[in-house]
Amino acid sequence: MTFGFQLHQGTVNGPRLGTLTTPHGAVSTPTFMPVATRGMLRGPWPDRLRPMGVEMMLANSFHLFARPGVESIEAMGGLHKMMAWDGPVLTDSGGFQAFSLASISKLNDDGWKIAHPVHGAMVDWTPKMAFEVQASLRPDVAMILDECPAEPRDRTKVAAAVKRTLRWAKMQRDMHDARGGVDSGQAQFGIVQGGVFEDLRQECARELSAMEFDGYAIGGVSVGEGHDAMMDGVRHSTSDLPKEKARYLMGVGTPLDLVESVARGIDMFDCVYPTRCGRYGTFLSDEGNQHIHNARFKNDPLPLLPGCTCDACATGVPRGALRAGLKEREMLPASLLAHHNLHYLVNLMKQMRSAIADGSFEDLRARINAVYRPPKP
Ligand SMILES: [Zn+2]
Repeated sequence: MTFGFQLHQGTVNGPRLGTLTTPHGAVSTPTFMPVATRGMLRGPWPDRLRPMGVEMMLANSFHLFARPGVESIEAMGGLHKMMAWDGPVLTDSGGFQAFSLASISKLNDDGWKIAHPVHGAMVDWTPKMAFEVQASLRPDVAMILDECPAEPRDRTKVAAAVKRTLRWAKMQRDMHDARGGVDSGQAQFGIVQGGVFEDLRQECARELSAMEFDGYAIGGVSVGEGHDAMMDGVRHSTSDLPKEKARYLMGVGTPLDLVESVARGIDMFDCVYPTRCGRYGTFLSDEGNQHIHNARFKNDPLPLLPGCTCDACATGVPRGALRAGLKEREMLPASLLAHHNLHYLVNLMKQMRSAIADGSFEDLRARINAVYRPPKP
């Protein structure tokens, strides 16, 4: 089988255990994909990912198209070779970049006109373009180009985004079929939009389900709406998705967002959170987020997190040295903190899978909530 999803345990909207089968190997779900936007992670080395437990990575088709470009990637031997990663890869379609680069992009019914991040000329980033670039990059999973509405609470704008996303989805689904579907060596996921509106998310999920995508993503969450609204968005999206297909929540998360989304039936995640936090001096622990800039670490001879089995903590570089180095913008502390954070989240996913299997998921969920849920004001 070139691509498939087997659900081993779980329900439509509860914690699930599954296996994603891809041309580059199997992935145990729920899983966390580290974000290598331009084919590389900000910090962790590619050969340290497997030992850490990473099973699938994410890259971004729009940024790769901009640099180094599809031709260069092909000349290097393809996307997996370029990433020095022989496991499964998912590429995002650039829809979120059009949203996040709103100041240099313009939306119309045919797609986005967006300034090329390298030379500035306007590029027509259309559903056809996003599809073809991803077909050339050959990730294991390609995402459809969608419209992520900039204002998730503006019903008129969100309804228009859902309409456009569905129309583009159908176009790209037809292109995927014409290319042989999963037999082309690539799966294609649809993306549910709908902002904070339950009926719009349900409608979008129903329409996409009828198109029979290989898997489904939930987009347009984690755009500043807050944890509770985000979880409502997840619930409103999953209720109308088929149980037997993989569900991927885009751009999430933090330990709390991950455990609460797994509790609501999500199988896959990606986020820059662990590497970005590391660059700013935040490291994850069972006592919550800690900040290396805190004065109490100034003379601290201990490694980042005593007892942690990750490569970064194993180096033994003391907290005091990491703090001083980060303040002077040395590269090593940012890299070590990013590595530790990614290891922490990948390990959390592993703990969640074990806990679902042995029936103790609610205990783990309560533990993460106790540490990571911000106190009510
Ligand atoms: Zn560590």
